[in-house]
This record gives sequence, structure tokens and C-alpha cells, in this order.
Amino acid sequence: MSDKIPYKIYLNEDEMPKSWLNLKAYMKEQHDPFLNPATGKPCTAEELEAVFCKECVKQELDSVDREIEIPRGVSDFYKMFRPSPLVRAYFLEKALGTPAQIYYKFEGNNTSGSHKLNSAAAQAYYAKEQGLKSITTETGAGQWGTALSMAAAFYGLDLSVYMVKISSEQKPYRKEVMRTYGAKVIPSPSDTTEAGRKILKEFPGTGGSLGCAIAEAVEAAVSTPDCRYVLGSVLDHVLLHQSVIGLESKTALDKYGVYPDIVIGCVGGGSNFGGLIAPYMAERLQNKNSVEFLGVEPASCPSMTRGKYAYDFCDSACITPLARMYTLGCGFMPSPNHAGGLRYHGMSPVISKLYHDGYIRVTSAEQSKVFDAAVTFARCEGILPAPESAHAIKAAVDEALKCRETGEKKVILFGLTGTGYFDLAAYKSYNDGTMTDVIPTDSDLQKGFKSLPKVPET
Ligand SMILES: *Cc1c(COP(=O)(O)O)cnc(C)c1O
Repeated sequence: MSDKIPYKIYLNEDEMPKSWLNLKAYMKEQHDPFLNPATGKPCTAEELEAVFCKECVKQELDSVDREIEIPRGVSDFYKMFRPSPLVRAYFLEKALGTPAQIYYKFEGNNTSGSHKLNSAAAQAYYAKEQGLKSITTETGAGQWGTALSMAAAFYGLDLSVYMVKISSEQKPYRKEVMRTYGAKVIPSPSDTTEAGRKILKEFPGTGGSLGCAIAEAVEAAVSTPDCRYVLGSVLDHVLLHQSVIGLESKTALDKYGVYPDIVIGCVGGGSNFGGLIAPYMAERLQNKNSVEFLGVEPASCPSMTRGKYAYDFCDSACITPLARMYTLGCGFMPSPNHAGGLRYHGMSPVISKLYHDGYIRVTSAEQSKVFDAAVTFARCEGILPAPESAHAIKAAVDEALKCRETGEKKVILFGLTGTGYFDLAAYKSYNDGTMTDVIPTDSDLQKGFKSLPKVPET
């Protein structure tokens, strides 16, 4: 180990960021606006405020302010689990025999086990400030529901989590964590909403879907007084909150005069990647660096590498506003890949725009190769990674191995978004040798593209 850079770079509390970084304010061109599917016109703040908290809508529509202050009520909560460690992966570097320097930012050191708590805290805080009594959300794999349960408990809000029924049966312990924090967990489809009853009637015995759970959560929010709906990824304000990941990473690396050549993150809805790259991308957009940005998606759900840049619904029940993004079509059904957090048909409009404009490179990785990298990492660095995070590990390892060939001493920074403790069924299938790689054919993708809504030309 070099004596210059410690294995773990911790920041002091007073070195934590005081503001989030609003990447949109650095972009020369903004992404296209959200459209109301009924009128084809851009959504107004009033329309969005019927569903989301006021302050979140304000942040969603803000493309001017470069910095947005982190309220004291949020930064105090952050102190329970932040600053998160930035680790120099000395042991992994050694195992790979690479001249590259590898760093990772670990966001899994909280009970919810992922970076999602960064935005859950902010959104629950704003809901409370607005005087709301309750919030609703959906959860698939459970990370987001768990994070929001912790935040709702802290700020004193009631929370209803519509959990995809099949997940709630397969992951009963996730459900217990949420209930322990006081959340009401409702397997979806349920008979508590119009949307749920309709699906139950049409498909009795269905295991549910994320699209259906979103529809139920939104319906419950708009039909309950003093209640709003909260989303854990994709939207611009979620990326904003996740910028704490990148800001802390940059402060830590700056201390040692280290500047990355390449920044790597896994991409599901794009929130951790958008947050990690934020400060470096802001400099890139001002022509102050030539950092390479690499997003990694599962080959089973290749929204960017094989998707279309088009207006689409954010959910598969076709009730949300339309966003222009890279998408496989809201009707695309990804195979049951183990990285649940990356099984999303679309992509953050900010990340989509940056990709479209050539600022970001994206690659896809097959599940079994991702788990090879996860196991290598676990055995070298000790942390059992979430399958989602392991997509970033896989790409970082590949980059480091390229450096071994070329002798380049690149500095690699990647986001380790979560722990794999809740994903032991996935590790079991890998260890048993029963894991498969499902890659959609072009005709599978065509079916998804057919579900894209027709949007009037503007
Ligand atoms: C949800 C999740 C992701 C993917 O979501 P993004 O919005 O793309 O960041 C990645 N890793 C973990 C551990 C997650 O829980």
C-alpha cells in the first residue's frame, strides 16, 4: 500500500457538501419538457404539484441555480450515515496486477443498504415541511421502500408502500424492515385502489408489476388529503439529491490531489450515476476537463445501448407524464434479472440528454460476468456488493485490465451503490451454477417499441 493515500478516505462532518449540485444549470441545452399525456402540452408546475411535493417540483423545473442549499433538517439526517467512505481498492488493484488506481464510493453503509436514502431523506423532509401527513410510493426489489420507510419514520410521516406482490412474497424480510420503521406495506395489486381492483379482476392471481404498483401509489396519493407520491429515481430532483455522492467523492480526492480519468456507475433510472458524475460533468461542460463517463446497464434491459430516444411513459401503467428519454418502451418486460434496481424500461432525461449529446459512453454487461466481477471484488475488498453495483465493478475491472495491457496509469472512480445482503438468492443461483444470461432479441425489443405512445409533433 502506498503511504500517500489511505485505504479509506473519510471526510469530517464539516467537509460534507452544504449544497447539492444542479447539473442542469451547466448544460448548454436542456432535455425536452415533460408532457401531459392528455393534452400533449408541457406539464405545468400546478399539474405536477397535485402528485409531488411542491419543493420537489420546484427543483424538478429549476435549470438555472447551480447550487441548491441542503436544508439543515436534511443535512442533520445525512450525518447518521454520511459522509460515506471513499476507498482506494488497493487489494483489487493488486489482484488484477494493474498499474491503474481504482477508487470506489461506498453507499451501502446504512440499513436500507443503498444510496436511495440520500433522496428519500430530502423528499420526506420537504413533504413534512409542506405540512403533509402522509406519502405513498411503490417498491419492486425493496431498496427504495426501505429507504423511504427510514426517512418517513425520522420525519414523522405515514407511509404506504405498494410492493409488487411477487417481491413481497419472495423477500418477506425486506417487508419486515419496512414495517419495523412503521410503513404500511401493501402487496400490489391490492383491492385498496381502483387500479388494483381492475388488474385483479382482469388477471386474478397475478404477481403484480412495478407499473401496477406505481399506478396504485399515485392513485392513493391523489385521492388522500395531505398526501403526495414520492419517486426514488429517474426524475431530475432525485439526481440533484444524489449529487452528494459525487461532491463528497471530489472533496475526498481533491485532498490528495487525485483527479479521475474515468468515472463509472451502474444505471437503472440513472440517479446514482447522475449524482456521482455531477461535479466532474459540471467541469466537463465548462471545458475544464476531459474525464470519460461510463454508464453500465444490464444486457437484459439495455435502455440506452439498444433503446430509442423518444417520449414515453415513466411507468408501465401509462398514467405518468411523458418524458423524452432513452427507452425500451413502457410495455417492455425485462427478464427476471437479479439486479432488480436496473430493470427499468427508461432512463433519466438528464442522463439521456448527456448521452445523446455525446458526453457519456454506455456499455452493457451480462449477468454471469457481472457476478464473476462481484465475487472477485468480495474476495479482495471484503464488501459483498449489490448485483446492481456489481455492474460498475465489472466495467471498472475491465478498464483496469486494459491498463494492464497498455501500461496506462489511469485513475478509475466507480460508484458502489449498495450491499448484497438482501440478494442472497442471486448469489445462490450463481454459486449453484444455475444463473442464466437472458438477452432480448431484436424482435423482443420491437414489441417494446410498439408500446411507445404517439406524441403529437411539436
Ligand atoms: C436502485 C438501485 C440502483 C439503480 O438505481 P439508479 O437510480 O440508476 O441509481 C443501483 N444500485 C442499487 C444498490 C440500487 O438499490
